[in-house]
Amino acid sequence: MGFPRPQKRPFQACYNQGVTEHFTWGVVLQKEPVGEADNEYSVFTWDVGKIRARATSSRKILSRLAGHLEPGTLSLVRIARKNEEGRFRMAEALSEEKTKSASALRVLSFAESLIPLEQPDINMFAFLRSLVTEGVVSEAKSYAKLLKLAGFDPEEAKCGICGGNEIAYFSPQDIMFLCAPCLRKRTSLPKSG
Ligand SMILES: [Zn+2]
Repeated sequence: MGFPRPQKRPFQACYNQGVTEHFTWGVVLQKEPVGEADNEYSVFTWDVGKIRARATSSRKILSRLAGHLEPGTLSLVRIARKNEEGRFRMAEALSEEKTKSASALRVLSFAESLIPLEQPDINMFAFLRSLVTEGVVSEAKSYAKLLKLAGFDPEEAKCGICGGNEIAYFSPQDIMFLCAPCLRKRTSLPKSG
């Protein structure tokens, strides 16, 4: 609702005195406290793909923006950095919609661990946005779709350790599928009771 069509997309990149600025839609994947009282946000943006941007408490930017940048929020964001390799800072954020669905938040958190930085992908953006605006019907299907969009196809995947076809698990840390026996060997969970 109220989401502009692609041809009316509101973002733009401005280049001014070596500062690159993007005004773009973003789905907030994660927030992490950094330093004394700042937050670093992981946001999948339409314009740049996944970015990390810091909001600083020192100039009261954080207190103004925090409510618009909770994980699971679709927001219009303005991000800026001094050069192409530098760190983004969060300059503005205005939330459009927010999900409280635990399933959606789990899939978004997994997406954060899976998606590489700064690779724009409109299909991925549309999928992540749909998690916020439409929710999750089947969490398993959402994981499968996410993996496929990220270039890991569970249907063609093989276990990263033994090469077997019976995939049971995807390890975002290793970016690798595992079969059930290899997963058990790898995790060697302590037995309960
Ligand atoms: Zn295996």
